[in-house]
Amino acid sequence: MKLLSVVVPCYNEEEALPLFYGELVKTKETFRARFPDVSMEIWFIDDGSKDQTLQVIRDLRKKDETIHYVSFSRNFGKEAGIYAGLSHAKGDHVVIMDADLQDPPALLPEMYAAVTEEGYDSAATRRVTRKGEPPIRSLFARMFYRLINKMSKTEIVDGARDYRIMSRRMVDAIVEMSEYNRFTKGIYGWIGFETKWIAYENIERVAGETKWSFWKLLLYSIEGITAFSTAPLRLASLVGFIFTVLAFVMIVFIVVRKLVLGDPTPGWPSMACIIVFIGGVQLFCIGILGEYLSKTYLETKKRPIYITKEEE
Ligand code: UDP
Ligand code: MG
Repeated sequence: MKLLSVVVPCYNEEEALPLFYGELVKTKETFRARFPDVSMEIWFIDDGSKDQTLQVIRDLRKKDETIHYVSFSRNFGKEAGIYAGLSHAKGDHVVIMDADLQDPPALLPEMYAAVTEEGYDSAATRRVTRKGEPPIRSLFARMFYRLINKMSKTEIVDGARDYRIMSRRMVDAIVEMSEYNRFTKGIYGWIGFETKWIAYENIERVAGETKWSFWKLLLYSIEGITAFSTAPLRLASLVGFIFTVLAFVMIVFIVVRKLVLGDPTPGWPSMACIIVFIGGVQLFCIGILGEYLSKTYLETKKRPIYITKEEE
C-alpha cells in the first residue's frame, strides 16, 4: 500500500470546507478505481481561523478517520500552513490543495500518474488565464513575475499555483529549508527536481472570499524578491557608483570653469534640485538595505514558523 497525503491550508473556510470535502470524496472514488493500492490521508491546517472552520474540521474528523488536523494559535499565513502540512504528512507523495476548490481535485489522478508512472518528482499546476480576477491585480502579477525572473537565478513560473504533488524526497528537501521568511514558489525552483506542468483555466472560488488583499499581495511580492534575489542590493551600489563618477566629473567641470572664466553663476535652484534628488536616491538605497537587514534580523531570531494550538 502506498500513502498519498493531501494538505489543505484553511483560513476562514467554514463555507467552503464541506463543499471541498464532498468534492474530494468523489475524487477519492475515481482515484481508487485507477490506483487501487493507494490510500489517502488528509491534513487540514487551520491557520488561526476566526470563524467555525476548526469546528467544521473536528466534525469531519469524527466521520472520517483519514482526516487529521493542526490548528494554529493565530493566523501565521498560508506559507506557514503549507510548511506545517508538509512536515506532518507521512505519505509517499504529498499534494497541496486550496480549500476553495480553485485547485480542482479532479486533476489529482493525472498528477499522481505523472509522479508515479512518468518518473517526475513533482507535478504542478499553472493557470493559463486569470479570468475573474481584477485586471489591476493581473497587471501587477504579470509585472512581478517578469521582474523577479530578471532579478533572480531561481526560476519562478508565472501563473503557478500552490496546487502541486511531490515525492517524499522533494517534501523532505522543502521541510529541511526551515527559513522564517518563506516564499514557497521560489523554494520549489531552488531545490530543483523535475516538474511536470499541467495547465488549466482559472476557476473562481466556490464560497467565501479571497484572503489576499492587494496590499498583502504587494508585501508578499517584496518577500519573494528579497528571499530569492540580492539584485536590489547590487542596484543600490551601482546607482551609488554612477552618482559618484558623475559628481567627480561635475566637480572638475565646475572648478575648471570657475578658474578659466571666473563664472559667477547664481545657481541655487538647480543646486536645491540636485540635493533633493541625491537625498531621495540615498534614502531609497538605505531602504533597500533596510529591507534585507530586517529579513536577516527576523531570520537570526530563529522563531518557530507556526505555533500549534491543537493537533489530532
Ligand atoms: N490561506 C491560509 N492562510 C492565510 C490565507 C489563506 O491558510 O493567511 C488559505 C485559504 O484558506 C485557501 C488558500 O490559502 O485555502 C488560498 O487562499 P485564497 O483562496 O484566499 O487565495 P487566492 O486563491 O485568492 O490566491
Ligand atoms: Mg483561492
